[in-house]
Amino acid sequence: MKIQKQNIIFVVSVSLVYCAISAGFSLVGTVLPDRVMLLNPIEHGSLSVKEIGGHFVWGLVAGIVTLRLRYILLGGILAVLIDSDHLIGLLHVEAIPRMSHSVTFAILSTIILLLVFSKKDYRLGAIAFTSVLTHISYDMFADSYGFPIFTPFVNKIIQIPRTDWIVFEIAAICIIGIVSFIVTRKEIDIKKISKEPGR
Ligand SMILES: [Zn+2]
Repeated sequence: MKIQKQNIIFVVSVSLVYCAISAGFSLVGTVLPDRVMLLNPIEHGSLSVKEIGGHFVWGLVAGIVTLRLRYILLGGILAVLIDSDHLIGLLHVEAIPRMSHSVTFAILSTIILLLVFSKKDYRLGAIAFTSVLTHISYDMFADSYGFPIFTPFVNKIIQIPRTDWIVFEIAAICIIGIVSFIVTRKEIDIKKISKEPGR
């Protein structure tokens, strides 16, 4: 596994777009019902080194099953960048906290990344979708938290038992693993076909 220039450009561009999607999506929370005064993320410790490191490791571990450096790194980085939805807390406004900790964000961010980068990059899709799972997993592991899982449709903060963190992490590993396996098999088949005599 070598760090190639293309890998760096890919990882950085996906990360920037993803960060913008998360911060942008959090703005939706300012117009939803049941909003509350947001806490300042810096005072609240949402951006501490431990928190960032924890999210990175949880995402990285799940990304390892792709066996490809760019997706392993993205697994870690995207899991950290979900917390860009905390930045809205700096604006001292009322909103739904943690908008990106939701199924809607997982689906939306996956669709946008695939449209922007490559519709057929299913590994990227799997990493983007499961980043929400690995992120929530570490949040639960580190502290007991509630998340607006079904926002903007149901804006109730849903509490999940803390011990379920492992279920979220394993689910992420399984999803990425299955997608990578299928994609790798397809790639091998295509290589075999193109090597067949007469082609
Ligand atoms: Zn979080």
